[in-house]
Amino acid sequence: MPSPRKNETILWSALFEHSWDGMVVLRLDGSLYRVNHRYAEMLGYTREELEALHVWDLDARLSREEVEGMLRSVDSTGAHFETQQRRKDGTVIDAELSNNAATYEGDKLIFCIVRDITSRKATEEKLRRNEALLHGIASQVPGALYQYRMAPDGSRSFPYFSEGIVALGGLPFEAISGPDTDPVMSRILPEDAERVEAQTQNSAATMAQVHVEFRILHGDGSIRWIECRATPQKEADGGILWTGILLDITQRKRAEERVNTMAITDGLTGITNRQAFGQLLEKEMERATRYASPLSLIMYDLDHFKRINDCFGHNTGDDVLKTIARLVSSNIRGIDLHGRWGGEEFMVLLPHTGLEAASEVAEKLRSLIAGHCFEKLGTITASFGVVELAPGESSRSLVQRVDDALYRAKKRGRNRVET
Ligand code: GH3
Ligand code: MG
Ligand code: MG
Repeated sequence: MPSPRKNETILWSALFEHSWDGMVVLRLDGSLYRVNHRYAEMLGYTREELEALHVWDLDARLSREEVEGMLRSVDSTGAHFETQQRRKDGTVIDAELSNNAATYEGDKLIFCIVRDITSRKATEEKLRRNEALLHGIASQVPGALYQYRMAPDGSRSFPYFSEGIVALGGLPFEAISGPDTDPVMSRILPEDAERVEAQTQNSAATMAQVHVEFRILHGDGSIRWIECRATPQKEADGGILWTGILLDITQRKRAEERVNTMAITDGLTGITNRQAFGQLLEKEMERATRYASPLSLIMYDLDHFKRINDCFGHNTGDDVLKTIARLVSSNIRGIDLHGRWGGEEFMVLLPHTGLEAASEVAEKLRSLIAGHCFEKLGTITASFGVVELAPGESSRSLVQRVDDALYRAKKRGRNRVET
């Protein structure tokens, strides 16, 4: 039967021998008193070779003086630090070292645990490089990269913003990098916020990509258009993490608006052009039919306009057209639609208006034009046709009828309104 003391020795030497960390016992003079199998393997020496060396022979970072200084100062509270050790073949490994001093059978010894952290260091370095790469990419990308998280309890956060967010939103980084999403979300215009939330909910439910355009109030007080594209990802805890990009598309939006406006505007007078008027007429007819609401149409044509061009030139004629368009536009309701139908023929569409009221409007416009004094030219008159949409009538028939009414007004002496 081994004595309890012997048992204890077997236990400690098993722990020493089978440890996954290197273990070294040093004398105060720096010589190696005992090393375990793992330590010898870590440095590629035999144990006998190691036990003939001093600890400074193995350290690739610290000088002999530094090591000696450390040995003198090691006490029972120990020390913990990172260093590098040189293997027998000359290669260097990263090591994490903890040591403690203790007295053993009257001698002061130093007990060290050495862990090879080369692969951990390599992983850390790789991570650091990846971070630098991400940072480099993020700073090159126009706009801002971001992450948005929805926790299982529905709470939201922005775990990441690239620096571009500062220029994009015009707010200091500190103002938006807290745990609360409100400083960011509250910048979205209320008219658009619902759409953004609906997209987010839909993406959370279907894992579809988010692609949404919305307006924000920029820090400088201006309104900016933002395009957002993001990809959702399920997280281990059931939360959802979106990674995406935010781009300022204000200029593109303005250009689109200009193009759209140009497409529906008459170049000379700035009012709705014939094509757009035709489309809006169809829409208003549908609405009027659905709500059983009256809808009337006025058409007017300037009287003897050819003479204006002939006597005063085409440019003067153009100025007259602009003035009359402005005059009429500013004397109809906001829901009425004024369009240029042809050369000097115009239309006014009047929703929620019956024939009688529309005739009164036409009469008012007729006298307004006739009462206007044009520089050099004096007065100009116009003839008016007025019709009300009949049940089931087509736009073609409606336009034909108003044209006929206008023709009658011309026939009956001009400067008059006919229904
Ligand atoms: P009426 O009273 O019968 O309408 O006589 P009118 O001279 O106005 O005859 P009509 O409507 O047939 O002729 C319209 C003239 O308007 C023809 C053209 O010279 C002129 N016109 C058409 N479009 C423009 C334009 O954009 N600018 C100018 N300056 N003149 C135009
Ligand atoms: Mg005319
Ligand atoms: Mg005409």
